[in-house]
Amino acid sequence: MAEHAFAQTDNSGVNEESLRMVSATPIGNEPVSDEELRPHVLDGFIGQPRLKAQLQLFLDAARKREVPPDHILLAGPPGLGKTTLAMIVANELAVPIRVTSGPAIQHAGDLASILSSLDAGEVLFIDEIHRLPRAAEELLYIAMEDFRVDVMVGKGPGATSIPLTLPRFTVIGATTREGMLPSPLRARFGFTAHLDFYPKEELEKLIERSAAVLGINLAEGSAVQLAMRSRGTPRIANRLLRRVRDWAIVHNLSAVQPDDVCEALALYQIDTEGLDRLDIAVLNAIVCHFNGGPVGLNNLSAMVGEESETVETVCEPYLVREGFLIRTPKGRVATAKAWEHLGLKPQDDVSKLF
Ligand code: ADP
Repeated sequence: MAEHAFAQTDNSGVNEESLRMVSATPIGNEPVSDEELRPHVLDGFIGQPRLKAQLQLFLDAARKREVPPDHILLAGPPGLGKTTLAMIVANELAVPIRVTSGPAIQHAGDLASILSSLDAGEVLFIDEIHRLPRAAEELLYIAMEDFRVDVMVGKGPGATSIPLTLPRFTVIGATTREGMLPSPLRARFGFTAHLDFYPKEELEKLIERSAAVLGINLAEGSAVQLAMRSRGTPRIANRLLRRVRDWAIVHNLSAVQPDDVCEALALYQIDTEGLDRLDIAVLNAIVCHFNGGPVGLNNLSAMVGEESETVETVCEPYLVREGFLIRTPKGRVATAKAWEHLGLKPQDDVSKLF
């Protein structure tokens, strides 16, 4: 990794999460291409064993009782399978699913019209539920608890509200920011599932499954190379796999060898730990220009030529999670792991800095 040290910090074009190959949120036409890779039954959903066991029990009980299950909240970072699980629940229950999202609902009336057209047993999936407008949220409380929606008829002082009884249905809410959900809304979910980042072995299985669906022949050891670079996130794993497929097509490969994966992804400047050009620029700046830190966010952002918000929200969470960076009251500090990753010997014991 020594070539990273003192590398020129060229950030042209890397200023948006949405432009990054290692972004956990969808880029390009991924919402469409993700569809072909979604498992349709719980058995096909890879990893998250505890969550799967809980959900299986929950669905089996609802099926035996012959009633729609309680409302379900799926919480966790983007790209870990929340939408996929919502689709699986509807499929396992053999009921239709209506899909919407917090930002798509601008007025309480938008939600009222969706709710009043739901069929008995239907699943209503609300992605980014923490972004619902307040008035819609309040309408949802009543609908979830009492299966009732108050429809406003007329305008101004003469307007009246007519209560409309709804058939029983199941709301599945997905959120990347569970803490932003007001507690009355959170309390209306009978089952809350937290999705965690996937360990490498699970990602490896997921990549092998996706490769089979896409008709890519991965030689032994190739899935491991992909899993190492996928930042614990299925969406990233599937994206990297598609880029490796491009490589295989262009090079007329009948089987993708581990070296092909390394070469293809090196072309996109993604290294063995899944760090990209921006991550490396940040580590490089702390280590080489600030002697390992501590360095304040503003200085660091100026050095890499990025908005401080981008560095803080796009880059740092993964660097902190993987132990490359520590946030201290005095600023950001590179860990021994960061120095070593850049091919350098740590100069300071970082614990002295606290
Ligand atoms: P989220 O809604 O949490 O952002 P998605 O459910 O859209 O994530 O998943 C992103 C992609 O990753 C989809 O293509 C999906 O098929 C795949 N995926 C996510 N989790 C799993 C899993 N556990 N097993 C198989 N594929 C998965």
